Amino acid sequence: MQVFAILPAAGLGTRMAGPQPKQFLMLDGIPILIHCLRAFAAVERVTAIVVAVRKTEMERVQAQVAEHGFTGRVKVVEGGDHRQESVSNALNAVAAAPDDIVLVHDAVRPLIDSATIERTIDAVIEQGAAIVGMPAVDTIKQVERTAHGALITSTIPREYVVLAQTPQGFRYGLLRSAFAEATADGFVGTDEASVVERAGYPVAVVHGSQVNLKITQPGDLELAEFYLRQRAR
Ligand code: C5P
Repeated sequence: MQVFAILPAAGLGTRMAGPQPKQFLMLDGIPILIHCLRAFAAVERVTAIVVAVRKTEMERVQAQVAEHGFTGRVKVVEGGDHRQESVSNALNAVAAAPDDIVLVHDAVRPLIDSATIERTIDAVIEQGAAIVGMPAVDTIKQVERTAHGALITSTIPREYVVLAQTPQGFRYGLLRSAFAEATADGFVGTDEASVVERAGYPVAVVHGSQVNLKITQPGDLELAEFYLRQRAR
């Protein structure tokens, strides 16, 4: 059984004003994407890693991959206009058997650790599909967007809520068939689990951590630096 990791990194990062997409920002002197690559390369069970980037970034990323010594295990492919398209392109570049495992990880979560990756792989072996998630600590409100701003329509009991993180792992065959169904129906999800859920497969949740943050807004980089310093102690 082989384990493949896919890092969709073709986003434009429009929520964080700046000259570059967030996955290429430097964290502790190293691009965020390379932090992610390091984390997956450190897990022995991960056979190969596929990174999906914009066409214009392919050369630069290939050079970074070589500079950090990952050339043999990492393939760089062209991403698409949606995350789902980027993941789909990466899936096409993987020579996997239906029982092999695919882990998809946001290229903007540089603090993922080996233990969480290992637990996700174990959960996929047992249950076929598993994602990292965090129980909600805030009270969750469903809202309606109106011209005067958001209006609450209901309160969702938080014991029923988990905030989805990554990695999200699946048996290759299961993910391929769920993706094919989504493509046929024109469904575009914001994560892989949503594609797999709608195809009717159960998806398990592995306990995540707030340290595995998604670099999204200004201030997140400083927080990530803080967590990195703590880890180094
Ligand atoms: O947009 P979002 O925050 O969900 O992005 C999550 C991940 O998906 C990021 O690593 C981003 O680079 C990637 N992505 C992609 N292709 C896109 C859009 C997002 O690979 N077209």
